[in-house]
Amino acid sequence: MINTDDSVANQYLVRIIGANGVDIVKKMPPGEIVDEKVAAETGIDINGIRRTLFKLYENRLASYRRERNPETGWLTYHWTIHLDNIDNRLDLEFEKLLDNMKERLAFEADNTFYICDNNCARFLFETASETDFICSVCGEELFHQDNEELIRKLSARVSEMESFLRS
Ligand SMILES: [Zn+2]
Repeated sequence: MINTDDSVANQYLVRIIGANGVDIVKKMPPGEIVDEKVAAETGIDINGIRRTLFKLYENRLASYRRERNPETGWLTYHWTIHLDNIDNRLDLEFEKLLDNMKERLAFEADNTFYICDNNCARFLFETASETDFICSVCGEELFHQDNEELIRKLSARVSEMESFLRS
């Protein structure tokens, strides 16, 4: 049910539900499942199964429908796992990462930064000028920081990611 050859998808899953959760998912029968039944059939701890299912649900990789027993009033959760949704989730993550990179690049390109010899912090021009270009942490003089190299690296990374999106 899960393609372990796809290491990116696998890594993503491990990040969400842990290696333990991936093991649990691999042992689950296909189709709709009821957590108590899976626990009884596989011997896996019911709390581990529930934790895994809810983590998958939070990440839109599982859904459930609830059924109430008319006699006892108890609710039963019928779960369906949608691991085929991983690709969409990965695309979404990638786009978010690209947006962050673009924002970072714009921030670097639009601003002028100042640092001291002790590297206490990076100050924006506006902040540095307020303290007469004296580091507010160590009291040393502030110098203009050349961020051309950083900008070059960031824009190379952004173009690389954009070309990946188009391919
Ligand atoms: Zn300093």
